[in-house]
Amino acid sequence: MKAYVVERDALIYNIQALRRFAGQAVIWAVLKGNGYGIGLVPFSRILHDNGITHFAVTEMKEAETLRENYPDAPILMMRSTADPAEINELLDLGVYLTVGCYETAVAINGIAAERATVAKVHIAVDTGMGRYGFLPDDTDKIISVYEYMKNLSVVGIFTHFHSSFSSEKATRQQFELFNGVVEKLRASGYDTGMAHCCNSHAFVRHPEMHMDGVRLGSAFLGRLSFKDKLGLKQVGYGECTLEEIRWIPKGQTVGYDAGFKARQQMRVAVIGVGWYNGFAYQRKNDIFRVRDSIGGILHHLKNLFFPTKLLVTVDGHKCRVLGHVGMVHAVVDVTDVDCAVGDKVTVAINPLAVKGLRVQYR
Ligand SMILES: *Cc1c(COP(=O)(O)O)cnc(C)c1O
Repeated sequence: MKAYVVERDALIYNIQALRRFAGQAVIWAVLKGNGYGIGLVPFSRILHDNGITHFAVTEMKEAETLRENYPDAPILMMRSTADPAEINELLDLGVYLTVGCYETAVAINGIAAERATVAKVHIAVDTGMGRYGFLPDDTDKIISVYEYMKNLSVVGIFTHFHSSFSSEKATRQQFELFNGVVEKLRASGYDTGMAHCCNSHAFVRHPEMHMDGVRLGSAFLGRLSFKDKLGLKQVGYGECTLEEIRWIPKGQTVGYDAGFKARQQMRVAVIGVGWYNGFAYQRKNDIFRVRDSIGGILHHLKNLFFPTKLLVTVDGHKCRVLGHVGMVHAVVDVTDVDCAVGDKVTVAINPLAVKGLRVQYR
């Protein structure tokens, strides 16, 4: 038996805490990446049953599935598209489109005119993320959308923070830029509709930035990079069973590259979860700045001298993983644990990394 377990109660607890903290701001649940790995449909169902009515996605299939399940829910396609087939389908589905540049506005406006309809859109502003959006200095271009695009109706405006998990200063700067654009438009008499900028980290850290709405993903899963003051519960873990248990003699090696060698006789157990399933999955080293390279080297050095012990839990006992984690297997030390084949093992796995495990809600 192997599964990725999602604790329904913890999820509902988080939803309620986030709703309370949001106050009047509308919460858009961001459900990209198959609902952050825990299943677009079951995750959205729990959200919807617990008062989250707005959804934001990045893929056509996600928009389609959500529309089938929630005929009336506001759905936002967060990336801009100028592809006629996608625009037509989004209009069929009644999904809000994102306008991130003038050309996209022209494309959507043209198709909406052909269909004799008005497309509801959110304007994207690029305050530093470097993808999708008008630059803050290009407010004139945004204004021309209002002036010349008779088949577009602006119902929202948003930006996306690039460092809300790491830099309050950068986030404040982005917020100021965004707020400046919104204020300028409003002062000139243009209705921006709902203004929204916060992702999960900014939402928790900066209540003053909540504006009219917020877009939350990882907060629902209680997985922020700092300890949050809302007491969110971490959602999701891997579960499997002890598949084989035996004593190995002193000198026996374990795993690829003989990564572990027993210094004395010990009792070990095989579990059927490995890195392919997201266990001990490490972020790729896509080193692109000196700062990141140095950070990476320091991390490796730290691990060399103070290796972080990889642990799993067998019947409430922490057990050390021996040697390298395999693709779909790992071996753990159960010398001091009273256990038998078939006993349950829980394994820390980030839902975003889960692969090859059935997601089970409990
Ligand atoms: C992913 C995403 C979010 C949500 O980010 P979290 O940090 O998971 O809350 C919000 N807005 C945009 C545009 C996104 O791509």
